[in-house]
This record gives sequence, C-alpha cells and structure tokens, in this order.
Amino acid sequence: MATHAGQAADAPAADTTAFDAVVVGAGFGGMYMLHRLRGMGLRVTVIEAADDVGGTWNWNRYPGARCDVESLEYSFSFSEELQQEWTWTERFASQPEILAYARHVADRFDLRRGIRFGTRVRSAHYDEAQAQWSITTDRGDALRARFCIMATGCLSLPRMPDFPGRDRFGGRLLHTATWPHEPVDFTGLRVGVIGTGSSGIQVIPMIARQAAHLHVFQRTPNFSLPSGNRPLAGDEVAQFKARYPEVREKARHAPAGIAGMPAPDRGALDDPEERRREVYEAAWRNGSTGLTRAYNNLLMDEAANATAAEFVREKIRSIVTDPAVAERLTPRDHFIGTKRICLDSGYFQTFNRPNVTLVSLRETPIESITEAGIRTSREEIPLDVIVFATGFDAITGALLDIDIRGRRGLPLAEKWRGGPRTYLGLMTAGFPNLFSITGPGSPSVLTNMITSIEQHVDWIARCIHDLAARGARSIEADPAAEDGWVAHVNAVADQTLFPRANSWYVGANLPGKPRVFMPYVGGLGVYRRRCDEVAERGYEGFILDAPAAAVA
Ligand code: FAD
Ligand code: NAP
Repeated sequence: MATHAGQAADAPAADTTAFDAVVVGAGFGGMYMLHRLRGMGLRVTVIEAADDVGGTWNWNRYPGARCDVESLEYSFSFSEELQQEWTWTERFASQPEILAYARHVADRFDLRRGIRFGTRVRSAHYDEAQAQWSITTDRGDALRARFCIMATGCLSLPRMPDFPGRDRFGGRLLHTATWPHEPVDFTGLRVGVIGTGSSGIQVIPMIARQAAHLHVFQRTPNFSLPSGNRPLAGDEVAQFKARYPEVREKARHAPAGIAGMPAPDRGALDDPEERRREVYEAAWRNGSTGLTRAYNNLLMDEAANATAAEFVREKIRSIVTDPAVAERLTPRDHFIGTKRICLDSGYFQTFNRPNVTLVSLRETPIESITEAGIRTSREEIPLDVIVFATGFDAITGALLDIDIRGRRGLPLAEKWRGGPRTYLGLMTAGFPNLFSITGPGSPSVLTNMITSIEQHVDWIARCIHDLAARGARSIEADPAAEDGWVAHVNAVADQTLFPRANSWYVGANLPGKPRVFMPYVGGLGVYRRRCDEVAERGYEGFILDAPAAAVA
C-alpha cells in the first residue's frame, strides 16, 4: 500500500494503513471532522477524490455560481479567530471566494497533510470480529479504521441524463458540477443549456452575456427570487463580526440554521391581501429567500402557499416582455418552496435578450443529441456547446456509489433498496461505527449546510470521545429506534406540502429512485435538542458494544 507523493497521511510514518478514523470527503464536512478528531489526538486520514479541499465549491466552478445563504452566515463558527480574520466581500459570496475561504481554512488549521487528494474510496466493509472498517480506494490503498465517517456530500454525484446520441456530439459537453478549472469562453458560440434548477438559473444569465446565441432547454419552470446580491461595506462587515457570538448562537437554534431567518409568527391568511402584498413586495425587494419564509404556513397550507406563488408568477409576467415566453417560464406544477427555491441575478430578464431562446421541453421534448446539436420533436438546433445543468443523485447518491457493507456483509444498497433508513440521519442499523455527516433523515439541505455540518461533526466527535471514556469499541443504531425515527421523519414531512413536489428531495429527478422524502423537515433547532438529549441519556436508541451478529 502506497502513500501518495506529497500527501503524507496523518499517522506515524511506520504505518499508513491503520487509523482510528477514516473520513471520506474534504468539503466543509470532512475538513471540520479532521480538525476535531485531530484535536482529540486521534489518528485520522481523509480521502478526497478531487485535487483540493472545498467539495461543492471546488467542483461547481461554472460562471455565476454563488451561495444562496448570506456569506456572513455561510461560514464556520467553530473558531472565533477564523471568523474575525476572514472578510467576505459580497452579500452572497461567489464560488471563487468560497473556494478561497476553504483553502484558507485548510492552511490555517494545517489540514492538507491529513488528506489524500485525487483518491476515490471504492469500498468500506465492516469486519465484525475486529470491530473495524476496511476501506479500499481506486489507487490501491487498503486502510483499516475503527470509525468510518462519510463526509461525501448531499450534492456531489452529478447526474447527466443519457439522451440518445449524447456521445456523438461533435461540440463540447459540459456539466455545471464538473466544470473545467480554466474559464470557458463562450464568445461567438451557439450554446444550449439543459436544466433550469438553481445551477441553470445561475449560469444562464452569465452565458447569455457572451454567447452568440443561447438556447435554454427547460423541462419544468421554476420559482426564482432576486438574490439582492451586492458588495458588503466595510463597516457593515465589522458590525456583523462584532455580533458573531450572538448571531451564531441564534443560528444554531433557528429552524434553517440561519440567524437572519427566525421562524415567522403569523400565517399568510392572517393578513389582509393588501398587507400580504406589502410583506411579499418588501421580501422581493430585500432579496434572499425570505419570501418563502415570510409566513409560518407557506409550506403547510395550500391556500397560503398560493398567495406567495401567485405573487411570484405576477412578477415573472411583469419582467418578461413576450407574454408567451412569460407563460412558458411560469411554474404551475408545484407549491412554491417545495422544490429548492432558486436565487438569481437577472434570470427572467435574460429572456428579453434577442440572443436567447426558450425551448419548452414539455411542448417539444429532446429526441436525441446529434453530431451538430440537439434534436427536439420540432427541429434540430445546431450548437457548439451543450451545458448540462441537470443536477445530482442527491443525498444518497455519493453514499451508495461506494460499496458499503455492514454486519454479515449486508450491502447498504440492499438495506436502502426501498429508500434510506437511518437513526437521526447519523447512523444506520447494522453498520456499526459508520457515521454520515448531513445524512438522510437529518435537516441537511433544508438548512444552512455549514451550521448543520458543525452540529453533526460536533455530535460525532463527542460520541467518539464518550465511547473511549466508557471503554466501548462500537456504537450502532438500534433497529427499533431507527424505525421510530424513519416514521417520525415521514410524519413530520407529511404535515407539509414538501412530499407532493417532484423534487430531488424525494428522488423524483432520477428514474427508478425510491420516492422517499429524505431530509428532516422539523428544523435544526428541534433536531439539535433531540440529538443532544440522546447523547445525554447515554446514547438512547443506540447499542454500544453489541456482540457480533447481535443486531438484526
Ligand atoms: P461536499 O462539499 O459535497 O464535499 C463532499 C466531498 O466528498 C467532495 O469533495 C467529493 O469529491 C468527496 N467524495 C464523495 N465521494 C467520495 C468518494 N467515494 N471518495 C472520495 N471522495 C469522495 N448549501 C448551503 O447551505 N448554502 C448554499 O448557498 C449552497 N449553495 C450550493 C451551491 C451549489 C452549486 C451546490 C451544488 C450546493 C450548494 N449547497 C449550499 C450545498 C453544499 O453542498 C453544502 O453547503 C456544503 O458545501 C456541503 O459540504 P460537504 O462537505 O458536506 O459536501
Ligand atoms: P436540479 O435542481 O436538480 O435541477 C436540474 C434541472 O435539470 C431541472 O430543471 C430538471 O428539470 C432538469 N433536468 C434533469 N433531467 C432532465 C432531462 N432528462 N431532460 C430535461 N431536463 C432535465 O439541479 P441543480 O440546479 O444543479 O441544483 C441542485 C441543488 O444544488 C439545488 O437545489 C441547491 O440545493 C444546490 N444549488 C444551490 C445553488 C445556490 O444558489 N447556492 C446553486 C446551484 C445548486 P425537472 O425540474 O423537470 O426535473
């Protein structure tokens, strides 16, 4: 087994195969996990498929990529020095700035020497006799570790629909989530973008400014709100930083992990129409995703939701000058907010440009990709570049991409054939000492992910510490507790409008994926309390040191 040149593992020079913990992924989750476990004196290595830290922000380099949680909140809170020394320049940071931040964190906490870059984990098998995980990679590594922690990301396995003829295309094929490291120049080119989710909605206005002509291939129209992005003034940043301790504490207990978005106390129908319009108008002008959180029942009540949805539909009609194009861009098939709301910088305005054409795939579906472009049921559209903004195999994709086997060699893919099953989104029964950061059944993608990542990493670190203090070798979810949590996650989701949308939250973007609402919709504050109580009650619902084959 080799260590890779220049990538010394965080272990004694004599043995680079045996660890207390192996962490998979070096996005924000894996980076912070490494920092915490190292601080506890554990031997830990991180394995990362990419060439650098940053995860999402290293892969998704398409023009226009930026966060939709305000930068001052979309950042680590675990180090006061870090949050004081780093200065964000825009309300919503761009991808290059977030990647620079991730690199800064890696350097500041000396993380790189603990990470094997350019290495993909292929398998993780549990050895019951030794109570250890055996992990293999595509570079021939064979590692052993007491704990295996999946920091593989919720949106890290890109999805490229297999249109007939895709490989015949004579031009350039790009995916937003595997964007080249060198900038792509679209000047003078005929470009097609497939997909109008958050990535498509960010990249489309940027490409339209350069391309000779842009065709946007839209299957489902989406709700999008103006981001209100702007440069941050120096004194504004200083004032915010001075309040960081209070802001972060609020965020940790807020439903979405965002201090600036406390839970509203009124329902949409409690206000008369005129007042409601003022509220929506103010939220629209302010930017961000506040409009979908303006009232406490927008995601619970159809009639309440309809008021916000219709407000945004009117906005689309008022922005897009051609009424037929405006109608095609108007979402009518889902409740606003039940698919991830998009934030844009001039998305709907882009369709007023003479060099942009909207192709509605509901009217004229793609039949094939040809050597020269895209053939729809109406015509062949000649293109030099096709950009796939077609999303991800979300939440479970990166986990199931690894051959993970638990007790008695049970593959995770088999256990999760009907959809993911976890206890607290942290562990799954029959897979001892295997943790997932922001796994299915946790608030994850419904929150500021960095707040959720910190909560999971801190909980896992505490758990590993407590196991050592008790002299326990292993921990695993009790199947009964897991059943209870899965039922609770579903029951809470079923009180909302979320499960009714064909979103990636339910796996509806992937043909054949079981339809299960995967994130926990109960809110981060509530969830955090539950996780803390479980730990304080001696890891209620978990089994410590179960003998081999004792757990079904
Ligand atoms: P990731 O950043 O996805 O990192 C996972 C890492 O694991 C990747 O680097 C991947 O290469 C690696 N990996 C996976 N499988 C393997 C394997 N088998 N072997 C080795 N390595 C592996 N969230 C927000 O809260 N706010 C936002 O504004 C926001 N904007 C986003 C914008 C985009 C374009 C996307 C795609 C997502 C966005 N998200 C946002 C979600 C974002 O994914 C999280 O905020 C956060 O960056 C996730 O960090 P992570 O470490 O959990 O996962
Ligand atoms: P996405 O939301 O899943 O959108 C994919 C798009 O591709 C959809 O419009 C989808 O249409 C379309 N599509 C998929 N398969 C298709 C096919 N076979 N034919 C035609 N169209 C097809 O993916 P995403 O835009 O990459 O975003 C994923 C998530 O990443 C977001 O929801 C968000 O959480 C995160 N993200 C955040 C930001 C941000 O603003 N910070 C930016 C990018 C991504 P249908 O709707 O019909 O399926």
